[in-house]
Amino acid sequence: MAVAGGMRFRVGGNRAPRWYPSIMSDALGPGRDLLRSDCYVGGIWVGADERFPVEDPSTGEVLARVPDLPDAVVDDALVAAARAFPAWRARPAHERAGFLARMAARMHDRERELGALITAENGKPLAEAVGEVRYAASFLEWFAGEAVRVYGETLPATRSDQRITVLREPVGPCAFITPWNFPAAMLTRKLGPALAAGCTVVAKPAEATPLTTLALAGIADELGLPAGVFNVVTGEAARVGGHLITSRWIRKISFTGSTEVGRLIQRAAADHLARVSLELGGNAPFLVFADADLDRAVAAALIAKFRNAGQSCVAANRFLVEGRVAGLFGEKLVAEIKKLVVADGRTPNASIGPLINRDAVAKVRRLVEDAVARGARLVHGAVPAADHQLVEPVVLAGITSDMPIWREEIFGPVVAMRTFATEAEAIALANDTEYGLVAYLCSRDASRQVRVAEALEVGMIGVNEGLISTAQAPFGGVKQSGYGREGSHHGLDDYTVYKYVNTRVEPA
Ligand code: NAP
Repeated sequence: MAVAGGMRFRVGGNRAPRWYPSIMSDALGPGRDLLRSDCYVGGIWVGADERFPVEDPSTGEVLARVPDLPDAVVDDALVAAARAFPAWRARPAHERAGFLARMAARMHDRERELGALITAENGKPLAEAVGEVRYAASFLEWFAGEAVRVYGETLPATRSDQRITVLREPVGPCAFITPWNFPAAMLTRKLGPALAAGCTVVAKPAEATPLTTLALAGIADELGLPAGVFNVVTGEAARVGGHLITSRWIRKISFTGSTEVGRLIQRAAADHLARVSLELGGNAPFLVFADADLDRAVAAALIAKFRNAGQSCVAANRFLVEGRVAGLFGEKLVAEIKKLVVADGRTPNASIGPLINRDAVAKVRRLVEDAVARGARLVHGAVPAADHQLVEPVVLAGITSDMPIWREEIFGPVVAMRTFATEAEAIALANDTEYGLVAYLCSRDASRQVRVAEALEVGMIGVNEGLISTAQAPFGGVKQSGYGREGSHHGLDDYTVYKYVNTRVEPA
């Protein structure tokens, strides 16, 4: 045990662990130094006696064993973030911006290795994983630009002997809890604005995919980020996550994950009134009107549905197609789906990798089986096998509102279709969900695009477009999809507080 600044550290420091398997050397090649299997606490790599395995969803092979950190070390991370906060916030914004820009550049330099790491622990095809690395870096680039634009205000006073200024300050140490489906981007979408604003961070990645977050901590370390500014802890979710969100050191919690866990987090944070932002689940409608360019609609549908094997909060979940064109749209979609290659993400032409684990397969199976039992028609594919994480695409027609597949996030490569007759019916069906993250609509009619976009109860809309996530736009939902916005200049709002200063000015 080493003691650093009053904190207890168990120093592991094993950058190339004993169990480092050949699969990782093959996948990462010269990037193997990115693989870290210890946590990053106060600028030190910290191990633990208890560890849990991180498995490759394509092969089941154990990639690494990461710490199930004891509470005392999680506390160390919280204390480290609190201690680092005053100095980090005091740095000139240009310096914080410079760090973010350097980190983004390093991510670009190492995009192939980082992509291979994402593919190894998440399963998505390598090209998609490299795309995620670029997308993740774009948040750091964007917030490097925003860091130097955290403006305050001066306001006209009502009295001549007063001056009113409004300072915009960092909220304080933050806790992040992130999901497994975009292990790099879900972190940097929070890390970018937090570090830009002058906040410090303790992040807890998902149990399935901690290696990408640890690799990014490794990059931050290499680039000389001051100790304690960014800490990563891993371990049993309810215990370690619970420790973070109930900590008195934490002023803001940013969570991305399921609505169910989001509710738990909001409740737990209430006791010490930490600020919370919640990026939660979705149940996106994908509307195809008869006046749409159907080829464009199919192209948008493919990306909105099959990216990350359908395991995305913005995945198109419910396809609503105007009756007159439903047959033709279905035919065109199935023709394109037949070209998709379902394979281990390292296969060069893979378009769909494995689902994250067997539970995910079981959920997709249950939803498809149940829909078929209730009368849905299998237009393409079959009920997925229980024992295989590589799931072939499925297309179902005749979905009805009583089916769980209509209500729940599928999180798999399944197209669930039903038809509508009028615009009003399409809007009513689209809004028939507790979620409100994103919707897609395909139409050539400019007035309809505006009418429907205004009527949909969601935080984001793609019009003839299936891929809308981008650093300069505010990402987030309404209803049970949460609140808060990530990305864009609004993305800084959650990480800053206003301080109003009223100064009395005596006459000369
Ligand atoms: P999840 O089960 O809610 O887990 C998300 C994170 O919360 C993980 O780090 C998880 O840790 C942790 N966690 C679980 N139980 C916890 C608890 N009791 N206390 C504290 N932390 C806890 O969600 P997921 O299955 O990883 O991700 C899929 C969900 O995320 C979907 O609903 C998807 O729509 C949503 N999502 C939303 C967005 C968005 O921006 N709106 C983006 C991506 C994903 P462990 O993994 O270690 O259990």
